[in-house]
Amino acid sequence: MDLYCVMGNPVDHSKSPWIHARFAALSGQALRYGKRLVALDRFAAEVHAFIAEGGRGCNVTVPFKFEAAALACRCSARASLAMASNTLTFEDGTILADNTDGAGLVNDIQRNAGVDLSGRRLLLLGAGGAAAGVLGPLLQARPSSITVANRTRQRALVLVTRHEALAAQEQTALLVRDLQELTGDFDVVINATSSSLHGEAVPVPAGLLRHGALAYDLMYGAAARGFLQWAGEQGAAARDGLGMLVEQAAEAFLIWRGVRPPSAQVLDELRALLSH
Ligand code: NAP
Repeated sequence: MDLYCVMGNPVDHSKSPWIHARFAALSGQALRYGKRLVALDRFAAEVHAFIAEGGRGCNVTVPFKFEAAALACRCSARASLAMASNTLTFEDGTILADNTDGAGLVNDIQRNAGVDLSGRRLLLLGAGGAAAGVLGPLLQARPSSITVANRTRQRALVLVTRHEALAAQEQTALLVRDLQELTGDFDVVINATSSSLHGEAVPVPAGLLRHGALAYDLMYGAAARGFLQWAGEQGAAARDGLGMLVEQAAEAFLIWRGVRPPSAQVLDELRALLSH
């Protein structure tokens, strides 16, 4: 049986084993997918140990996504641009890195939520690993503009500078703003910060969302509640990151198995499971 896993620290909360087990069952693929808690200084060693055990690939979560891209022999274009990877494939003794976070987010917004991003004004909050993973695929959806705002402005500047050529190619205006100075009128606001994990308020002033806009938090469950409530109070449609989680897993499954799993069905099942 082909072996896969998710590596992270912490990793206990991860829904990836459940999601991949459902994908495998529904698409008739024989595989086993586990989770591995990795000590902070042991990521490379654990990857090589997993390969030695016959592992075919792994997902990578916090805090190892940057290290995963650096460890790989080869990176896909989207992992190179993000400088971060959430999906490693082991083939003939080489480590291939990809990043499916952005495709997962765009697929959830466009396919599952039915919101076309082309021509829209987007606000991306955050400039950490998750924001780095989603900015390229968001640009490729050809919105009219993407404004990136981060607590540490310099980090946003570095991220945006790296994406300038892609933005020009897609004819999307790419801007940096200070969180504190944010003004404007956005169609889609994406929260890729981890502020609520630390119990802190949503880092956005009121009045940024056009009525009927979409407010999307990459988090899900209790951690997303504050942002979703804020969005509702502004008259926006609110969506958490559970769909992104399932869709990024579906992209990884496609890379590994060559089969696109029924992600919408698995998302419905997971939502039902978590609501009990
Ligand atoms: P990260 O690399 O640690 O980055 C954290 C980001 O949050 C940085 O931009 C940081 O700003 C900002 N931040 C932290 N505390 C803040 C506060 N109090 N006020 C304002 N900004 C604050 O983390 P990450 O990997 O990007 O992950 C971000 C979130 O996305 C995590 O909660 C993760 O669970 C979620 N995520 C979800 C999915 C999914 O499939 N649904 C996939 C990936 C990630 P500074 O630069 O100033 O520190």
